[in-house]
Amino acid sequence: MILSVLLIGTVFFFFLSCRKTDPETKTEFIFGTTCSITLYSEYSQDTFTQVFSRVREIENKMSVTIESSEVSEINRMAGVNAVTVTSETFNLITTALGIAEETEGALDITVGPLVSEWGIGSENAHVPPKHKIEKLLEHVDYRKVVLDADNQTVFLPEKGMRIDLGAIAKGYAGDQAVMFLRKSGVKSGIIDFGGNIIVFGTKQTKEPWKVGIQQPDSNRGSYFGILGLAEGAVVSSGTYERYFMKDGIRFHHIIDPSTGFPVRNNVDSVTIVAGSGTSADGYSTAVFVLGLERGIQFVENKTDLEAVFVTNEKNVYLTKGLKDSFTQTKAEYPIASFE
Ligand code: FAD
Ligand code: MG
Repeated sequence: MILSVLLIGTVFFFFLSCRKTDPETKTEFIFGTTCSITLYSEYSQDTFTQVFSRVREIENKMSVTIESSEVSEINRMAGVNAVTVTSETFNLITTALGIAEETEGALDITVGPLVSEWGIGSENAHVPPKHKIEKLLEHVDYRKVVLDADNQTVFLPEKGMRIDLGAIAKGYAGDQAVMFLRKSGVKSGIIDFGGNIIVFGTKQTKEPWKVGIQQPDSNRGSYFGILGLAEGAVVSSGTYERYFMKDGIRFHHIIDPSTGFPVRNNVDSVTIVAGSGTSADGYSTAVFVLGLERGIQFVENKTDLEAVFVTNEKNVYLTKGLKDSFTQTKAEYPIASFE
C-alpha cells in the first residue's frame, strides 16, 4: 500500500520555474491512505474541494469498509440478489474481470473473503488455519461473478463470496481526478494516492516528469531509480507496505488466488507504467502475482504497459520500453537482464 513511488527533483524545479501561479499541494486521508494532489496553474481552492469530493464519492461507492457502499451491498447480497450499481462501479468491475481473464486469475477481485480473513494491515492480522483458507478458496473465482450490462447489475451467486476493489480502485480514482481537473481547466498536476502516481500536463521546461521508485527495503521516500515520463501513471505493488512478520516469514497483502496465501516468489516490488491509473494499478497487482518471468513476458506482450521489477536479491529488471527512461540511483540495485 501507500507510498511506493514518490515524486522528486524536477517537481521542485518546476515549482521554481512556474511564474504565473504558485503550485499547491493538498492532502486528505482517503482509501485508508494519504492522498495528495498538486496543482500548478489555473486552479482555485474550490478546485481542490471539488476534486477531493469527487474522489470521496468514489470511495463511498467502492469501499468494503463503508457499509453503505455499492460494493458492500453487492457483498451483503451474495447468494441472494443481483444489485443495481452506478455505471462507474459496474464498468470498473468489468475492467477488473477483464484483467483477471487476461492474467488467468492473477488479479481476482473475488479474493475478498481471504483479504478479510487475513486482515493484513488491520489489528486482526493473523495466519488463518489451512482448512479455513481452503474453505474460503471455494468462493474465490472471478468467473462466477454475474454481470448484467442491460440492467447494470452485479451478482455474486454464492453466499460467502465477496469482492474487494483494493487492487484497482485507487488507480481509477486517480484517473477520475485527472479528468475532473482537466475539465476544470487545470493545465498540469500530480496525483499521488497512496503511492499511485499520475502526472498530467506539460512542464514549462518541456522536460519529462521524474518519478522516483521506492526502495523496498528502506524508509518511505528512499528510491533506487528514477523514471522520466511525459504523462501517465506509475504504480507499484510490493511486499513492503502492508505486512506482518511471524516466525521470520513476511505475510504481505497481495494474495495468490491459487493458494489463498500471500504471494511467495522472488519479487519484492513491481512498478507498472501505463497511460491510465486504472491500468497501472490493476496490472501492478496482477503482474506481481505472475512473478518475474511470467510477468515480464506478459508486459512485453502489451504495447501499452512497461514495468520495473525488483527481486529480493535487489536486482532490477526493466521491460524494453524503459531502457532509456530509467536512471539507476543506487549501486546496490543494479540493472539485471536475462540475456
Ligand atoms: P495493490 O497491489 O494495488 O492492491 C492490493 C490489495 O488488493 C490488497 O490489499 C487486497 O485488498 C487486494 N488484493 C490482494 N490480492 C489480490 C489479488 N490477487 N487480486 C485482486 N485483489 C487483491 N484501507 C484501510 O486500511 N482502511 C480503509 O478504510 C480503506 N478503504 C479503502 C477504500 C477503497 C475504495 C480502496 C480502493 C481501498 C481502501 N483501503 C483501505 C485499502 C488500502 O488503501 C489498500 O491497502 C490498497 O487499496 C492496496 O493498494 P496498493 O496500491 O498498496 O496495493
Ligand atoms: Mg494494484
